[in-house]
Amino acid sequence: AVVTRFAPSPTGFLHIGGARTALFNWLFARHHGGKFLLRIEDTDRARSTQPAIEAILDGMRWLGLDWDGDETYQFARASRHAEVAFDLLARGHAYKCYATPEELAELREAQRAAKLPLRYDGRWRNRDASEAPEGAPFVIRLKAETEGETTIHDRVQGAVTVRNAELDDMILLRSDGTPTYMLAVVVDDHDMGVTHVIRGDDHLNNAFRQLGIVRGMGWPEPVYAHIPLIHGADGAKLSKRHGALGVDAYRDELGMLPEAVNNYLLRLGWGHGDEEIIGRDRATELFDLGAVGRAPSRFDLKKLENLNGHYMREAGDARLAELATPFVEAALGRALTSADIDLLRRAMPHLKPRAKDLRDLGDAATFLFRSRPLAMDEKARSLLTGPASDLLAAAEGAIEAVTDWRAEAIEQSVRELAERAGVGLGKVAQPLRAALTGRTTSPGIFDVLELLGRDESLARLHDQTR
Ligand code: GLU
Repeated sequence: AVVTRFAPSPTGFLHIGGARTALFNWLFARHHGGKFLLRIEDTDRARSTQPAIEAILDGMRWLGLDWDGDETYQFARASRHAEVAFDLLARGHAYKCYATPEELAELREAQRAAKLPLRYDGRWRNRDASEAPEGAPFVIRLKAETEGETTIHDRVQGAVTVRNAELDDMILLRSDGTPTYMLAVVVDDHDMGVTHVIRGDDHLNNAFRQLGIVRGMGWPEPVYAHIPLIHGADGAKLSKRHGALGVDAYRDELGMLPEAVNNYLLRLGWGHGDEEIIGRDRATELFDLGAVGRAPSRFDLKKLENLNGHYMREAGDARLAELATPFVEAALGRALTSADIDLLRRAMPHLKPRAKDLRDLGDAATFLFRSRPLAMDEKARSLLTGPASDLLAAAEGAIEAVTDWRAEAIEQSVRELAERAGVGLGKVAQPLRAALTGRTTSPGIFDVLELLGRDESLARLHDQTR
């Protein structure tokens, strides 16, 4: 059975690249009816933080990337990692190295001077521990293969080969008894039963070293799939300046829907023909590693916004009203009442077709809740002067006479008024919109009137005509 894992280091938020790695692992496991595990790689005690852990778990939950069982915390497993280092020692695949820091510094100096690659020279590989001073500190190093080559048949990168002579005897266990990252990853993947290691291709070089440990222990080798990193639109490695935010910012600041972010992340490096809109079920059905591209994908906020607009139009009104509420409140500067939220839900069919995200939508919805007299933006104010003000007064009268307060009926009487006045409908609709919303763009003006209700609509009009 397939077992995948996502293994973030909790040193920062869940960024967009990490979320994509998680999604690919999740989809691969679900596609094959396997398990998807989560391991928090918190061994860097100085840089790992509890808020970062929370942000990662929260981001994954928001994206719906549920993991099987409890998450594993790597630091808590340090004694198990050490046990494996000693096991490798007993099997003759590792050795104790007593080289002092000063000695190693000297070695590096000499290598630097001779323009040689900087690497440990294996000086304790064939020496006996009895040659070391009593009680001297040691590290445990892997006795790496020196002859031949290692080839990884990576599911994304294809066959990748490294000459074994290029890999030095890396440290597994430090002199203070703590495991190195390389050892911890391999031991955890083995103990968790991971069959497929899917991660960023910045880890491809590590895979060769990690395989040395796997083979030393005689463990089954995982299948590797190293996916290309995400680049910015300019081709440079993705960074903050490209809009590479934490997943929480896509939710809380931009107001994106998780299904849009998922769909976008999926299409970032994976494809199925020309299909753009691929929901969770379809993705689970189709996903495989063979269709992951080898070239770095480019992050494109416009595409994400377009997808988000699509999913906004598909989303239910009640859900959107709930999700949009904090954005309306932020734009409005006050909390919404439950009656407000009800109005927001009723307005949703008119708001959601025009919004690319919830922030946008929140801003567009504020006119519903503003207190009178309505603040006008400059353009709106300019639409209320001159002949327009007479038309507005006439429209107010026509609207006041409407008994059946529905958009169609209101439209009917405003149209009749425009005809009587000998002007196009737009000449009346523009000042109406300005007076009722304080802006020059809004949902259809007759829908606005219906939503605001008779009393509020007439009061807003009166504020501008008296
Ligand atoms: N903790 C590593 C990272 O966040 C991932 C290690 C792995 O996937 O093997 O980059």
